[in-house]
Amino acid sequence: MNDQYYMKLALDEAEKAKEIGEVPIGAVIVLNNTVISSAHNLREREQRSIAHAEILAIDKACKEIGSWRLENATLYVTLEPCPMCAGAIVLSRIGRVVYGASDPKGGCAGTLMNLLQEERFNHQVDLTKGIEEQACSELLSSFFRELRKRKKHK
Ligand SMILES: [Zn+2]
Repeated sequence: MNDQYYMKLALDEAEKAKEIGEVPIGAVIVLNNTVISSAHNLREREQRSIAHAEILAIDKACKEIGSWRLENATLYVTLEPCPMCAGAIVLSRIGRVVYGASDPKGGCAGTLMNLLQEERFNHQVDLTKGIEEQACSELLSSFFRELRKRKKHK
């Protein structure tokens, strides 16, 4: 399977977030061509600032394989990781990250800074960006468009 295929699975996760009123961000983690975890943003529902798609997916993946090291895994996420998630990715030694849309307000995988490839850390991550970018960013912008519309009507 290729990057587009797995990014579409991440988009499916993002759709699940949207359905429950969460900012639509989804992530999947793939190891040896197998999806070992998938998750979506649950920050509002759980009222947990750390309940980002990537954190939840990393947590599930570690449980799934019984190890905190995810060296050979690839994480697919619809939006560029924030500083917290980029940190968690480095600390779990994830080998590769693929993201869809860039995040000009919080992206720490190349936009504001690049924590994933900071040479002073003891782990660097292979990075591919812009896979299914249009679909990933359209999902987010339509979500915020509808949110603004709803707020106006109130
Ligand atoms: Zn995050």
